[in-house]
Amino acid sequence: MPFPVDRPRRLRRTEALRSLVRETDVLPRHLIAPLFVKAGITEPEAIASMPGQLQHTLESLCKEAREIHARGVRAFLVFGIPAAKDAVGSQAYAPDGISQQGLRALRDEFGADVVLIGDLCLCEYTDHGHCGVLEGGTVRNDATLELYASTAIAQAEAGVDLVAPSGMMDGQVAMIRDALDEAGHAETAIMAYAAKYASAHYGPFREAAECAPQEGDRSGYQMDPANAREALREAAFDIEEGADIVMVKPALPYLDVISAVAEMSPVPVAAYNVSGEYAMVKAAAERGWIDGDRVALEHVTAIRRAGADLVITYFAKELCTS
Ligand SMILES: [Zn+2]
Repeated sequence: MPFPVDRPRRLRRTEALRSLVRETDVLPRHLIAPLFVKAGITEPEAIASMPGQLQHTLESLCKEAREIHARGVRAFLVFGIPAAKDAVGSQAYAPDGISQQGLRALRDEFGADVVLIGDLCLCEYTDHGHCGVLEGGTVRNDATLELYASTAIAQAEAGVDLVAPSGMMDGQVAMIRDALDEAGHAETAIMAYAAKYASAHYGPFREAAECAPQEGDRSGYQMDPANAREALREAAFDIEEGADIVMVKPALPYLDVISAVAEMSPVPVAAYNVSGEYAMVKAAAERGWIDGDRVALEHVTAIRRAGADLVITYFAKELCTS
């Protein structure tokens, strides 16, 4: 008998064969494009640490969304940057807050043809940059929940399909579900940032959303990067509290967590391929050290292979070229 008998290379011989047996796809329908809309600007502004990403005016927000939509991506996660910030982030839940304006503009533009997701947090809107009500240097959990509830209602009234609470307060999903139901928004779904880590990979986002904490950091509420078991507990709570989708953030350094959550979750699992993951690829590609397009596709493929049904990624537009 010739050696070897098993030759896995047989199925790698041509692109047609490889395509036939490929296990993981990245299709436009799997992707969610994050978009930033900023109050009080008349021209879109570049985000230096995230080449290709912009802080949008309402007009350029719709234009960018049209271009992404033309490539087949039909879901957008909207972040607002207000003109003025205060201690309790009141522009997050103002009916005419910039995020609500952006969501309304996109809904008018696309009707039911797209999925609109509102990032639900206070850090872009507070002058101290924390995700909730700050008292004596600590973010107060339960006082913050009240404001999340108001924000959820404001976003639901602006027409979102999903609200995406990202503040990692205990009980936030239950609180938001109750508030939405009581306000007559039983159809508005919740994509919970279930396992959001206190990661150093959010650096560029803080420039994009202008939300770096003025003092301290977020490790009192976001998860310790060293913990995986705890992520399953967080996801289980969120599912029990009524989350329709659970999310792991960041994605690449936490593929094991995505995989474990996907294993246990009865609801779809999303992963957020965050700003730092994007910036590293862009920076290395700019220097000619890597092929950025191929690395981006490989990264998003890996996130899908780990078990993410949906990937929130700044690469959404460029990954979908047709
Ligand atoms: Zn936040």
